[in-house]
Amino acid sequence: MANKIQCAAHGESHETFVYTHLLGETVGLGFNRSEPTAENPFPDAWCDDCELISAAHGGWNEQSENLAKISMLCSGSYERARIRNTRTSVNDEDFFVRGLIQLPIIGTAKSFCWGVRGSLSRDNFDSRIALRTPSVSDCQPCFPG
Ligand SMILES: [Zn+2]
Ligand SMILES: [Zn+2]
Repeated sequence: MANKIQCAAHGESHETFVYTHLLGETVGLGFNRSEPTAENPFPDAWCDDCELISAAHGGWNEQSENLAKISMLCSGSYERARIRNTRTSVNDEDFFVRGLIQLPIIGTAKSFCWGVRGSLSRDNFDSRIALRTPSVSDCQPCFPG
């Protein structure tokens, strides 16, 4: 279980460790970690660059850890770093999502698809994430017949 720490900004928090690239106001660097568990809800996290370093050295070991510095963070800041780096955010309020618009072409079995980017409020974005809607990639027509 993660140790409890007192954070000046977030009150009682869990102690977490992230690689230093994810500290501060970083956005969209990637957020790699093992799957959180009940035992360890805040596994160590690292950015996509560090993922490459780790992969090049066969995982986290003395060599790769020399190339990437780790730092302690409260769980409040950890969650913030996770949100900022796993999503493409323009600012705290607007998130862009990718979607696919599909139109069936009359008389054929094909549909015409193109990607769109839309802006959603943070709440909508969060509920979309919560639903874990599988992304539409098989291009089924939206309007059968
Ligand atoms: Zn904090
Ligand atoms: Zn990194």
